[in-house]
Amino acid sequence: MRPPGTAAPEWLTRAQVEFYESVVRFAKTLPDDVRDRDEAGAFSRDIWNRCATFGIQGMPVPEELGGGGHDVLTTMLGLEALGYGYPDQGLIFAINAHMWTSEISLWRFGTPEQQQAWLPRLCSGEAIGCHAITEPEAGSDAFNLAATAREVEGGFVLNGGKTFISNAPVADVFIVFARSGAGIGPFGISAFLLRKGVSGMEVGKPLEKMGLRTSPMAEVFLRDCFVPAEDLVGKPGQGGEIFTESMRWERACIMASHVGLMRRTLETCVAYARQRRQFGKPIAKYESISDKLANMKIALDAAHLLLLRTGWLMDQGRDAMTEAAVAKAFISEATVQSQLDAIQIHGGYGYMSELGIERGLRDAIGGRIYSGTSEIQRRIIARGLGL
Ligand SMILES: Cc1cc2nc3c(=O)[nH]c(=O)nc-3n(C[C@H](O)[C@H](O)[C@H](O)COP(=O)(O)OP(=O)(O)OC[C@H]3O[C@@H](n4cnc5c(N)ncnc54)[C@H](O)[C@@H]3O)c2cc1C
Repeated sequence: MRPPGTAAPEWLTRAQVEFYESVVRFAKTLPDDVRDRDEAGAFSRDIWNRCATFGIQGMPVPEELGGGGHDVLTTMLGLEALGYGYPDQGLIFAINAHMWTSEISLWRFGTPEQQQAWLPRLCSGEAIGCHAITEPEAGSDAFNLAATAREVEGGFVLNGGKTFISNAPVADVFIVFARSGAGIGPFGISAFLLRKGVSGMEVGKPLEKMGLRTSPMAEVFLRDCFVPAEDLVGKPGQGGEIFTESMRWERACIMASHVGLMRRTLETCVAYARQRRQFGKPIAKYESISDKLANMKIALDAAHLLLLRTGWLMDQGRDAMTEAAVAKAFISEATVQSQLDAIQIHGGYGYMSELGIERGLRDAIGGRIYSGTSEIQRRIIARGLGL
């Protein structure tokens, strides 16, 4: 049950290892109805609430704001343990989308009033958060926004359209980015807190996805949507900085559950390769199969260490931008490969829906796109190399 590498006490504290183990135990108590919900594209508010009651959603937020006050490393371990113990990557993705977008933005940049009004509710699971930056013409070029925020008496009027917004169909609070002033790129962008049902904001029909189907997603339309001045997050023009900070956390932590998935997949594959016999012996005895398992182990250990390195650096107060990009690119791609290997090792049974391995592949592919595509992570890494 222990995360790899924890045999040496200098890697992690006893409390961190115990926390990891407690999350695995908790995850195994959750109902395993993911196959049906994946097919139906259904989000489970019940499981969301159970995770929040356990303390998952609030992990990194300070205790005085309703959170668990865990450091980054411990938070990552909690998410890794959830990904290991619970097979619904979509639900875990929805939790990630909530934590890194709404919680981090409000914790780091919100006014005391915004923090008090929202953070305890976001941590307790009572409220669900999301953020909306992507537009049809602004994806990887995230700051190339067409959405506008015009300053008027007492606030701002927002217009524009957002797409691919995770959690939008179930969200209570939306952190929306729009251009409020002159400037190119991140300059002149502001962030706003919009409440569910506010006049002028419409959430479109849920979008159908290949994977992460238990995590709801929709477009968001803003038509002369008035936002009072007190719902500006941070200062006018600070939206670029707020988004960058939120992405720093997201890139660093969002792959933690993938590491858990990779480990569960490896264990499942080792057990299967030992018991599945062809040509009179277990398939594990064929080197082309055991090499795949060895490669899965190499990728898992590298993924785990890259994750922990990023968390450790952030806990030392370092921005870890390049390390987070390295971890995000490596883990997302290694997870896809591990799911492909798992299907191959299981043969025809792996290709069928029943075992859930093909769902693992469908879920994993999104990791190469959200929070900055693999290509964009490589742009960040190249920048870190001074290129
Ligand atoms: C599951 C999922 C959840 C998401 N959740 C949210 C959310 O909650 N909120 C939100 O605002 N957005 C969300 N998004 C949107 C996501 O951030 C974008 O899809 C992503 O940034 C890529 O933008 P795009 O889809 O427009 O692709 P594009 O930017 O059009 O990219 C198309 C291709 O071109 C490549 N490319 C683009 N620019 C470069 C470059 N400079 N160098 C090399 N290659 C390049 C890309 O890597 C990609 O391969 C989500 C997306 C997914 C898939």
